[in-house]
Amino acid sequence: MYQPYEYRRQELVEPDWHRLPGWRDVTPREWADPQWQRAHCVKNVRQLRAVYGDLLDEDFYADIERDQAERATMSILLPPQMINTMVPDAVPTSKALWADPVRRYMLPVYSERDPVWPSHPYASRDSLHEAEMWAVEGLTHRYPTKVLAELLPTCPQYCGHCTRMDLVGNSTPLIDKHRFQLKPVDRLDAMVDYLRVSPGVRDVVVSGGDVANLPWPRLEAFVDRLLELDSIRDIRLASKALMGLPQHWLSSEVRAGMARLAGTARRRGVMLAIHTHVNAAQQVTPLVAEATAAMFEAGVRDVRNQGVLLRGVNTTAPELLDLCFRLLDGAAIMPYYFYLCDMIPNAEHWRLSVAEAQQLQHAIMGYLPGFATPRIVCDVPYVGKRWVHQLAEYDRERGVSYWTKNYRTGIEAGDGEALTRSYEYYDPIYTLPASGQEWWAEHGGAAPGERPMAGVRPS
Ligand code: SF4
Repeated sequence: MYQPYEYRRQELVEPDWHRLPGWRDVTPREWADPQWQRAHCVKNVRQLRAVYGDLLDEDFYADIERDQAERATMSILLPPQMINTMVPDAVPTSKALWADPVRRYMLPVYSERDPVWPSHPYASRDSLHEAEMWAVEGLTHRYPTKVLAELLPTCPQYCGHCTRMDLVGNSTPLIDKHRFQLKPVDRLDAMVDYLRVSPGVRDVVVSGGDVANLPWPRLEAFVDRLLELDSIRDIRLASKALMGLPQHWLSSEVRAGMARLAGTARRRGVMLAIHTHVNAAQQVTPLVAEATAAMFEAGVRDVRNQGVLLRGVNTTAPELLDLCFRLLDGAAIMPYYFYLCDMIPNAEHWRLSVAEAQQLQHAIMGYLPGFATPRIVCDVPYVGKRWVHQLAEYDRERGVSYWTKNYRTGIEAGDGEALTRSYEYYDPIYTLPASGQEWWAEHGGAAPGERPMAGVRPS
């Protein structure tokens, strides 16, 4: 019987790194060593050339260099493990790399950015206004019962579409990153002090950046302090490195430390989980499955995936379902959320409209077990996550959706209208009908090829 999606169980395969000229002589022992992986990260085009040698055309390198100079909000940082998942089953060519889903989001090129509207007029740094909602530096209190603790501003890998591009990573020619002001030890102390006097908060997302970049003893000490607070019932550690650098999570130091934390959590009735961030099916490899299994063995209660919908990467039903099944069947990672890419600068070519996201949610229903069917969500500025079908109104012509909420964020204690106001989210302009695109061209202040800035809101 014909079905729009054909499920086939896929065996995981670790791509052979020896196919890449720069790593022909790398031994399995070196590959498995997290220090070797970190020391051989690719940070620029020169180092990329050293990996790929003569396999790639000059045009490809020039496309990356131009992007870094004129459009990139994140600098390049790719562990070998991550690079090895690009064009995983062949010797790469420029053509194959240009078309590769992992390359599309981890190694952006200029030619893929939208030429007319690279940014939406309402795109902004810190588009979710997290810093505005810091209860203390780095601790975002947006939802009533949960907080986000940004422990550090670095990761073992940098994603081109990073929502925290304002703070995370190295500055690029376009974006001068903000810096934390407090010393790390004072910042973490302030977070714990705040939680100590906030018994209504039961859930802490321990994030960054990526917790894999915090020396293990410091991460363990912080989580131990959270575990001492009776009010904290859920702790989730955020690490894309579970996929990008699984060698870190497989190290004996981390496994032993996680076993200690999970033991304490279990005794105190706290649910300790890991949240990772995988966007393409080919990134789920045997090493990722091994690292996840090691975390389960250590006593972590669950490992969940929070991906980002990115055009050209995972925004067709087969791409998304392949990814979810690979996570679930291959690595026992729970597909949990897929977010619409946030309205950061120069992200328009990746973003979907809310209507496209609604269609995608419809298309993936019924194939996965209900408990593993991811929710597709829009992170609405000043609101938070909403399922994409929850919007209150939708102007399809101008691509403006209106959302409401049922709680106050940390900055709205005295705001009488917080729960009756509607909050906007904007679709990428190139997805709009011609009349809507014309409206934005007239009102959005854009000249073709320039980053538009608007002072108007559609009314
Ligand atoms: S791992 Fe997360 S925080 Fe780090 S660059 Fe990627 S999206 Fe940003």
